[in-house]
Amino acid sequence: MEKFNTDGIVIKTSVTGESDLIVFVLTRTRGIIRAFAKGARGMKNKLHAGSSLFAYCDFTVTEKNEVYHINEAAVKDIFFGLRGDIARLTLAQYFCEVLLKTLPDGEADEEYLNLTLRSLYYLSGETKPILQIKAVFELRMAAVSGYAPPVHACADCGAFQTDMMFFNCLTGELFCDRCGRHSEAPVVPFPVIAAMRHILFSSPDKVFSFRLSEELLRPLTQLTEKYLQNCMQQRFRLTDMFWTAMSA
Ligand SMILES: [Zn+2]
Repeated sequence: MEKFNTDGIVIKTSVTGESDLIVFVLTRTRGIIRAFAKGARGMKNKLHAGSSLFAYCDFTVTEKNEVYHINEAAVKDIFFGLRGDIARLTLAQYFCEVLLKTLPDGEADEEYLNLTLRSLYYLSGETKPILQIKAVFELRMAAVSGYAPPVHACADCGAFQTDMMFFNCLTGELFCDRCGRHSEAPVVPFPVIAAMRHILFSSPDKVFSFRLSEELLRPLTQLTEKYLQNCMQQRFRLTDMFWTAMSA
């Protein structure tokens, strides 16, 4: 039996037995682990708060034959601000869906946890537009997973910037206004491409720090959503719910 400590965030819970939970935790040191939280459904249980969805905790875990048990969960944040707004809550759940469907078993790159924590931090506050947070999460998620699109220049002629450019959501290729004219890629205003470059090429603590008008945030995140789905070859169920919540 091995005992270890790690910080991590609960990204899924399911009920088991009379009062237990199975929690899926995105940890810093072991990727996503699936662990038993004994008695955690009991309101007075010491694991109750730390086993709830989006709880960010310092966990003490024991592992035996690849079965994990949570022993302690010291709560650091519960991202309370998510609960008051259906669009924000749905987006947070969508982030969890993406992580659960795409993170390879045992993948322990802590960049996944850092990106998720920062995304939820901004999502539970009101300081960044919700579509901006979505776009950053999607594009960085693709990049951390090894699918950073080559948007530094036109794929044909190497041009850095034209007023209108073309972005191919299947291949991640960028084209200038001349080379892209005959491609099937959709046309994209340059500021959207500049935002994608910022998200891809900034240090992790700066990725959210850019400004783009509301009208352009929507096409940005429509592109990043489509691109992520194509890279991961997944359809994410919660995107439809998110867009419905946004239009309500
Ligand atoms: Zn070109």
